[in-house]
Amino acid sequence: RLYNELIELRGNIRVFCRCRPLSTDEISKGSNSVIEFDSSKDTELQITCADSSRKLFKFDHIFNPKDEQETVFSETSPVVKSVMDGFNVCIFAYGQTGTGKTFTMEGTPECRGVNYRALEELFRITNQRIAFMRYEFSFSMLEVYNEKIRDLLADTSDICGRKLDIKQTAEGTQEIPGLAEVQFCSIDEVWELLKSGGRHRSVGSTNANELSSRSHSLVRVTVKGENLLNGERRKSFLWLVDLAGSERVGKIEAEGERLKESQFINKSLSSLGDVISALASKNSHIPYRNSKLTHLLQSSLGGDCKTLMFAQISPSLTDLGETLCTLNFASRVR
Ligand code: ADP
Ligand code: MG
Repeated sequence: RLYNELIELRGNIRVFCRCRPLSTDEISKGSNSVIEFDSSKDTELQITCADSSRKLFKFDHIFNPKDEQETVFSETSPVVKSVMDGFNVCIFAYGQTGTGKTFTMEGTPECRGVNYRALEELFRITNQRIAFMRYEFSFSMLEVYNEKIRDLLADTSDICGRKLDIKQTAEGTQEIPGLAEVQFCSIDEVWELLKSGGRHRSVGSTNANELSSRSHSLVRVTVKGENLLNGERRKSFLWLVDLAGSERVGKIEAEGERLKESQFINKSLSSLGDVISALASKNSHIPYRNSKLTHLLQSSLGGDCKTLMFAQISPSLTDLGETLCTLNFASRVR
């Protein structure tokens, strides 16, 4: 209750920034970190630009390269809890490829990320409330690639053929007819689902690094809650979104398929920025329909929904341009 009152006061949009460590490759090339963290303030960071000028950015929370998955989740869990109280929640990871979007959301088997921990949290709260609430969970996983929606839980034979689309319901919400939805009762079942969905993501044509960077990957957890004391029922969604890489692709490198991909990515990421900043500034018109991504998430963005964006950055001087783009994007939506 207290958290929800706080979030009302501060608005429903949170922006966290997370900086990954320098990679061994960057260290061996003598790269230095251009980011300075203030040990007394976890809401500010400073960047030293190439001309030695400094830029200050403020966010709701800043995670430095030493912060572990557990620390990140401890700041994230209040937003996750909201879905158990009947609010729709979207958590996004935004940033250049290689900055740790997938690390934050999926993590690794040893260092599990937000997705797994969020699902664990849902079960923890279920047990806490067992005397007066009953919950049911289901899971879907999809991908938006070149403005097309694909079901990541569908049979492999199906996956290339069947395109999904968004249908507007009479109540003004969005549905995706035909999207696979699997009920689950334990964290182990859902871990298997997460893994099987991950294997179906679009594979980039040229190198392994692109494997997942050209598409948006979305996990949707549907939470149905029934209050056993008064019979009240609620349905809410938790969306966990690993966005496509935000890096600008040079005109020379990009031709044909690659150029088309990057135009679609630019369009959908800028639509997402437009929607969130319109919500943050309480505009009356919110341009949800400009991309599949924002249309899909329409009922889970705005109103009393909770939105959390991770702005993922690299500490390396070589990535400075993209880092500034990400921080500017994230400042705009806050
Ligand atoms: P993205 O999904 O944004 O392309 P990845 O999540 O694949 O980036 O991260 C790139 C690499 O950096 C991976 O090897 C990942 O394990 C590592 N990495 C990212 N963030 C962290 C972090 N906070 N701590 C340790 N390693 C990280
Ligand atoms: Mg990734």
